[in-house]
Amino acid sequence: MTTPRKIPVFSPIIGREETEYVNDCLSTHWISQGKYVKQFEEEFSRYSGCQYGIATNNGTTALHLAAVALGLKAGDEVLVSTSTNMASAFAMYYQGAIPVPVDIERDTWQLDVKQLERKITAKTKAIEVVHLFGHPVDMDPVLEIARKHDLKVIEDCAEAHGAEYKGRKVGSLGDLACFSFYANKIITCGEGGMVTTNDKALADRVRRFGNFCYGDKQKFMHDDVGYNYRLSNMSAALGLGQFRRLEQILERKREIHARYQKNLTGVRGFNIPAIRPWAKSVMWMFNVYLTPSEFGMTRDELCRNLAEMGIETREAFVPINKQKVFLSKGLVREDDCPVANDIMETGFYLPSGLTLSHDDIDYVCDAIKKLARH
Ligand SMILES: *Cc1c(COP(=O)(O)O)cnc(C)c1O
Repeated sequence: MTTPRKIPVFSPIIGREETEYVNDCLSTHWISQGKYVKQFEEEFSRYSGCQYGIATNNGTTALHLAAVALGLKAGDEVLVSTSTNMASAFAMYYQGAIPVPVDIERDTWQLDVKQLERKITAKTKAIEVVHLFGHPVDMDPVLEIARKHDLKVIEDCAEAHGAEYKGRKVGSLGDLACFSFYANKIITCGEGGMVTTNDKALADRVRRFGNFCYGDKQKFMHDDVGYNYRLSNMSAALGLGQFRRLEQILERKREIHARYQKNLTGVRGFNIPAIRPWAKSVMWMFNVYLTPSEFGMTRDELCRNLAEMGIETREAFVPINKQKVFLSKGLVREDDCPVANDIMETGFYLPSGLTLSHDDIDYVCDAIKKLARH
């Protein structure tokens, strides 16, 4: 009997450099803070087109520090791509700011910039774009609207390390940007994050608030209520090792995407999101959405069937405007963002781990084609 296959949605690759750098922390006893934090900050922020990088202990705390640094406070409104990891919305809400959901485009799943202006009120202070699944948002119109209405721009780059908008790296396009280095992100620290910016004053605020607002003259006389959101030297060591293989990882992502696309293009009702000609997407995960009437079953039915064949999938995000916790507070309207609401029901992603073989991909594609109505 053959052992049944198990294909997880994701698995990272951890190589020699990562092991070497982490072991260096252990053997030198520089485990909390040390040279790897600084090196990781410098190299990653430079790569992302920024002068300043501040490492944090995860992507959510990076986003919270962005909100703190911009001075967001109770009652302020922040326009946010509605289809996202709730960290994007929660981090604003930690400051009392209200995340205002903005719908996405069906063919790219990215913020629909045409919907932005009608959501602006006297309370709007910032726009938070999310480069979802590694595809950049159409930033020129976003920046134009921000200038016109005097709004700050935060980029949520948690899924988009290395992505480019018209030849410019994401992470350097708004006032502040936030990355995540969770295990399934493009590169990982285990848990980790980073804020990048070209604004020195903002960088200083992020660093100060993320490191407890220690006093300058008298260390333990804090000059404000700060947070401990620091990244450890061990995590940064892992992150630096991962950063050194970023190009290899991005190449793997391209390969995986290309093979899925080749195998699955033309399956009726099985829709692969578009990539804009001006975009360099890093294809975080192979995300798709179904048209159930054409495909012959619903997303949930398909994913159940795939699970029985050992193929793990992950359903699309529940948008901000559908979150019970925000609905119960009267902050959002459920039917506000119809496209994201539809993607929530029909969207999902296929296994996109870095150790996936061609044979694994073909196995997944054959399974889907067998299940599709012909
Ligand atoms: C993962 C993710 C985050 C949060 O990052 P953590 O490191 O898990 O806290 C925020 N935004 C988006 C879009 C994400 O995918």
